[in-house]
Amino acid sequence: MQVALDRLLPEYIKKFEAYTPSKPDAELMKLYGCSRLIRLNNNENPLGPPPASQEVLRRFPPEKAAQYPSGDAFYLRRKLAERFDKDPDQFLVGNGANEVIAFVIKAFCRQGDNIITADKTFAVYEWVATFSGLEARLVPLKDHGFDDQAMLDRIDERTKVLFVCNPNNPTGRYWNRARLRRFLDLVDGRQIVVVDEAYCEFVEQPDFPDGMKLIEEYPNLVVFRTFSKMYGLAGLRIGYLAGSEELVAAIRRTCIVYSVNTLAQESASAAVNQDDHVMRTRRMVNEGKSFLTRELARLGLPCIGGEGNFLMVRLPMSDTLAYRSLMKQGVMVRSMTGFRFPNHIRVTVSTAQAMEAFIEALTTTLKAHEIP
Ligand SMILES: *Cc1c(COP(=O)(O)O)cnc(C)c1O
Repeated sequence: MQVALDRLLPEYIKKFEAYTPSKPDAELMKLYGCSRLIRLNNNENPLGPPPASQEVLRRFPPEKAAQYPSGDAFYLRRKLAERFDKDPDQFLVGNGANEVIAFVIKAFCRQGDNIITADKTFAVYEWVATFSGLEARLVPLKDHGFDDQAMLDRIDERTKVLFVCNPNNPTGRYWNRARLRRFLDLVDGRQIVVVDEAYCEFVEQPDFPDGMKLIEEYPNLVVFRTFSKMYGLAGLRIGYLAGSEELVAAIRRTCIVYSVNTLAQESASAAVNQDDHVMRTRRMVNEGKSFLTRELARLGLPCIGGEGNFLMVRLPMSDTLAYRSLMKQGVMVRSMTGFRFPNHIRVTVSTAQAMEAFIEALTTTLKAHEIP
């Protein structure tokens, strides 16, 4: 028997190229013949989850795994509401912020509609739109940041959602309060504006806008947050969106109940008020960043960086080759050709030890490349 795939699959699925996840660490170590693996590819927090979350994980009663989780992350939403001075119904929790991207697109877009974002940003907005048969309008970055005016210029009557990553992954650039406000004022409620604040807890700039505070004023604003980066819970998959009650009620219609597991909900609840952990992580990132910028300057390598726990480096060689060479030395970075930054790698800012190991491996990689 044959499946009539050719007839069954929509054209936009046929054309879509699936994302290939990287192999498990143990497999990579075998493949590249290295005895250690320093993960600097996913912007994870090497300090792990905050102590209170670690305690939840250690004490979790195995029997509880037999029960379904809270279908609407009841206690976590209550915790978030207290923390941000909002109503619990203004939050929608998902299996990572990745899942809430799909909730928003499904809620607002039908065939023929479009979304607008940048060409060099977190790729999932574009991917979800494209494999949903929608047009993703990609506006080139300007000075490595989102170009607000160019985004506004691309809006037409079929534009439903605008995605702004603030600060931007992978360039680290951000819109300040005045710029975000101006953008929201000009959109004037005609489209949904998503501000993805996956890295906001790392930002210490006084003019950085807190999306949570703008929600009451802008009922078309959706803010994304995640527990994967600052809170070190990437492996448990939990993130959320926040917005006006009316907006969140609309988006909730598209969400899959029970997609967020109990362990994730409970460890995230414990993480919400762990400010010491945030301080400790920021200190590590600040030290790591100044070490990296100094060392990269010494090596004569230009870098693109700003806020967030990552930095991009421009190499005098192919990033794919550099990736392989670094992997052989047990250092995993993100090669950026696939993200439209050829000859660039993105490096997660991590512990002093990891940063030293990275610079050492990179020095070896560059030397090997110089030899004709
Ligand atoms: C990591 C990341 C996310 C998604 O994180 P989840 O692990 O799915 O919660 C969303 N946006 C940006 C910009 C990210 O870098």
